[in-house]
Amino acid sequence: MNNQPPSARGSVDESCGTCGGDRRIGNSFGLTTTCPSCHGSGRRPEHTGFHDVTKTKESHHRPTNRAPVVEKKLWPTSFEGGQLATEVRDSATCREADKPRLIREIIDHETSHGTCTQTFVKKMRKLVRPPAMT
Ligand SMILES: [Zn+2]
Repeated sequence: MNNQPPSARGSVDESCGTCGGDRRIGNSFGLTTTCPSCHGSGRRPEHTGFHDVTKTKESHHRPTNRAPVVEKKLWPTSFEGGQLATEVRDSATCREADKPRLIREIIDHETSHGTCTQTFVKKMRKLVRPPAMT
């Protein structure tokens, strides 16, 4: 056994604390290898105490710069939606202040329904077309 303090074995203080001045240590493969503390000198390294050998791990978790970009739609993508939005935009009866909101509604409707339903188109047209003469 080699777990006695170096002084008990008559070693001098300058002896490497890891190999006890043997300059070599047995590794986990049952082989002897050059002492990693003194690098084979058998001398106590100048820096005693534990040298932090914790490997500085390179982060493999780089922040991805491919985060999904939520594209802010400003105009409907479907043909019907685009047509309807054009009607809203060009409407003479619809208030200018209401137009962005209505176009937004079209986009929202289109997003949730996949397209503009006829019911929605009719409803929207009622809002933007001049009232029928009665
Ligand atoms: Zn050593």
